[in-house]
Order: sequence, then structure tokens, then C-alpha cells
Amino acid sequence: MSKELADLLFPNVDKTLDYYEQMYPERNLEKGAKVTRLGPSPTGFIHLGNLYGALVDERIAHLSGGPMFLRIEDTDDKRKVEGAEELIINSLKFFGIEFDEGVTIDGYKGEYGPYTQSMRKEIYQTAAKFLTEKGCAYPSFVTEEEMAQIREEQEKAGVNPGYYGEWAKDRDLTLDEIKAKLDAGMPWTLRLKSTGDPEVAMKFKDGIRGEINVRQNNLDVVVLKNNGIPTYHFAHVVDDHFMRVTDVVRGEEWLSTLPIHLELFFQMGWRRPNYNHTAHLMKTEDGKKRKLSKRKDPELSLEYYMRDGYFPQAVTEYLMTLMNSNYEEWRMKNPDKSYAEFPFKAKNMSSSGALFDLNKLNDISKDVLVRLSEEEILKFMLDWSNKFDQKAHDLLTKYYDELIKLLAIGRGGKKPRKDLVNCTQIMKFIGYYFEEDFDFVDELPERVSKEDAKLILKEYVDGYSQEDTNEEWFEKVKTITDAHGFTSNNKEFKKNPEAYKGNITDVSTAIRVAVVGRQQSPDLWSIQQIMGKDRVLNRIEKYLDRL
Ligand code: GLU
Repeated sequence: MSKELADLLFPNVDKTLDYYEQMYPERNLEKGAKVTRLGPSPTGFIHLGNLYGALVDERIAHLSGGPMFLRIEDTDDKRKVEGAEELIINSLKFFGIEFDEGVTIDGYKGEYGPYTQSMRKEIYQTAAKFLTEKGCAYPSFVTEEEMAQIREEQEKAGVNPGYYGEWAKDRDLTLDEIKAKLDAGMPWTLRLKSTGDPEVAMKFKDGIRGEINVRQNNLDVVVLKNNGIPTYHFAHVVDDHFMRVTDVVRGEEWLSTLPIHLELFFQMGWRRPNYNHTAHLMKTEDGKKRKLSKRKDPELSLEYYMRDGYFPQAVTEYLMTLMNSNYEEWRMKNPDKSYAEFPFKAKNMSSSGALFDLNKLNDISKDVLVRLSEEEILKFMLDWSNKFDQKAHDLLTKYYDELIKLLAIGRGGKKPRKDLVNCTQIMKFIGYYFEEDFDFVDELPERVSKEDAKLILKEYVDGYSQEDTNEEWFEKVKTITDAHGFTSNNKEFKKNPEAYKGNITDVSTAIRVAVVGRQQSPDLWSIQQIMGKDRVLNRIEKYLDRL
């Protein structure tokens, strides 16, 4: 009956599995090379979890000398969004993920395509026909209403929900009954005829979690929907087989349906890939850990990092620390190596949730940016501003040469300044330099009165010389300090604070406020060297007018 049933359900399928076995032969790879894939759905939202998974895929494949490819999993029509593929490809590319094969901006690349699930209907149908012929699948005509009713009864009876065992009435339909229903035009889905027993636990080795117990599946899950399109369960099994994937990396939300996938591989007679179930990205809120949520956490979206102008190197570096807890130690020992040299291991990944922390990302960003040249930083900022902030773009273009020097202040030597985090933050950080929208943000230090400030600044202006070395400049500040009831002798000030209005820090801070509008900045003499005399004196004049 199975053969007849298969022909009845799939009259148009004229290929066999063998045909596809030959069309998609085993890959010719070095021993130990692993093949991975990313299988995002084109929903129009690409998130940190996608990037995290992609980086794990990328590391597993490339560290082993194997390829990684992109497959678009678009079997759910309702979730499909125009332009989503470009978004996925471009966003991942932005963060340094480039696929060796699969869907690209210019079409498919590779011998194992088509790489979009909606284009693979024939292959799924052939595989489904094979299952049916083997007696492992049957058409089911239950409607959603009937399913709801079954669920209700199951709830009353206190048994597991789902279509299985004695609940799965359509298992027992005769060929004639099936024919009659088909003739009547009733829509049908194809279901797996499960042979599993959930009482039976099997040992299963997950690449991340190690050995875990998995119960056998007994659900007659839908493998083909009533439009002939497969469910995720079936599609990924067929694809991972014919695309010769060796290692699947996917979120832990798939652990619960793993028994289904194992049974499908078994029934198809195929060797299953290694599965690596990654832990969810979590965050701490009010002392509690919870999953990052699309609705509540804007930082889940990759767009968030692009907008704020995070450097992709920093995001990758951070994700590496989330992926393997020994990464940070390795980085300390190997500050100049590429992350790609780190011996990443899936089995060293956390299985209980990766704690995502923006502050930590910012700290890591600072370390990463210290290692970039000013040219690299500005070039990236130009690209960023071109997309996200036209006003910043104009400023960066106008002041480009000066900014190269400005950004360099204090970044050399043994203990470089680590002030730079991302583009928006850097724009704020160097905002004092631009005449456009310049504002005196901070007040004078407490110990400097307006009257004293006037005297100090006038004297500073009178003695100002652009040719002064840093030492000469500092001597002048000292002289001014001592001439106005402040002291340049810090020891003396500590001993005898009442004898003075304040110390040299107060005086130099007052000058700083007048020149850059802020109490804190990188080395003031260096800034003035770049700004030039006219701009420095103009600023001070303006400030004096306000006093
Ligand atoms: N399309 C699936 C998802 O977006 C992919 C899961 C997998 O990688 O197998 O979750």
C-alpha cells in the first residue's frame, strides 16, 4: 500500500533520492574539515543572536579548514519580508562575517544550491515520497479545529498534547478512504509515522553541552504542510543532508524538538550532523537574569550597534569573550594577534546562558580602539556618518587632518588613553574641537572665582605663544598660578591649604574650561598646538565676555 500511497500523493515526483545523492555528492574536503551553515529566516529583523551563531559557525568551519554557507529558511510565508536577505547579508558582512557559499547579493554561489528553501520544493517532495513509500509517513486531514479539540481532550485526560499514538486517527486510514478524501478535495498534510517511544532515553552528545539524555520522539509531526512546503523539522534535515553539513549550530530553543530531528534522520537512513545548541543571550535586570527580548531590548538588534557606530572589530572581540571564557586570558597574552588565531572550541561554550553586558562591550571597545590607528578610526567614522549622521560627516570631512592629530593625543606610549568607544561617543568626546555648535559646557572649578578667572585668563592671553614647548607653556601656567594667590607647589598646598586660594590644577582647569569648554580633556597644550593661536585666543575672548 505504501508504494501506491506514495504514487497517489506525489504523482509529479519523478526523481529518486539517488538522483540527488549524485547531484550533491559528498564534499571533497581535507580530513576533519567541518561544514557549517547559517539558516536565518528572512523576517526583516537581524539580531545579535544571529551574529553570535554566525561567528560560532564561522569559527568552527574556518578553524577546521571547511566552508560555511548561508541558507535562507523561508518556509514560513507569513514571516517573509521584502529586502530581508540583503539586510542579513549586509549586516553580517558589516560585522566581518563572509560566507564561502550560499546566498549572496549576486545570486547563489556553490554546488549545493538552490540555497533558498522555497526553491527546493522538488527535493523535499522527493524525500517525502521516499518516507511515504517506506511506510514512515501518511497524509493527515485533521483540521485546526479538530486539533484544538484533541488538545482539549488531552488536557482533560492529563496526557501530553500532540498528534501521536491513538490520538493520531489518520494513521489508520485505508487507501480507499484516503482516495475519497483526496477526491473530495480535502487539504492534507504529510505526517511522520513515528515509531519512537518517549519512555526510551538515549544518550546524545551535543557539541556544546556534552552528553545529554534525549527521549525518543513519538509525535507524528507534520513534515509537509498542506501547500507542499516542508516544516522546519523536515526542511533542515533534507537540506543539511544534501548540502553535506557536518555541524549544525543553532539556538537552544531547538533542543526540545531534537528527538523529532533524530527520528527523521534515522527514518531517512542518513547520518545526522553534529548538533551544537548555543545558550540564549541573557541580560541582568534588577538583579535577575533574563533572555534578551526583541520587544524590550533595543540592543538585541544589530542595527543598534551600527547606528551607534560600534566598530565591528569590537563587537567581534566581545562576542569571542562570550563564546569562550578563556578568550580574555588568551587576549591578554596575545594582544596583537587576530581573534582568528584563538583556538576556539564549541565544547568550551557556556550551556547555561551567555550574559550580555553593554558596559563590558564598551570596555572591550576601548581596548580594541587603542590598537587601531587614527586613520582607521576616522575612516570608519566617515563611513558611519555618511550613513547615519550627515552633520557629523560634514565636520569629520572639514576637520579631517586636524582630527588625525587630535585623536592621537595621549594614545601612544606605554599607558595609552582609552577614551574611545564608538562613533557617537567619539563625536561627543571630540565635540569641543569644532567651532560649529561649540559651547562652554562646564563651570569654573569651585576654587576659582570669576574675578580670579578674568585675571588669570588675561595674563594667559598676554603671555600666549604658539611656539612654546610643552615645558615652557607649563612654566607660564605655574607663574600665573603663583601670581594670583594659588600655588604651583602641590606639597606645600597639601601642608598648608588655608594659605592659598587653590593649586595649579584649579588654574589650569580654569584655562581648560575657557579653551575647550570642559573641565576635562586630553593634554591641553597638544590641543592648542592643533587648534592654532587664533582659535585658542578667540575662545578665551568669548569666554571672558561671558564672565
Ligand atoms: N531558521 C531557523 C531559525 O531561524 C534556523 C535554525 C537552524 O539553524 O537550524 O531559528
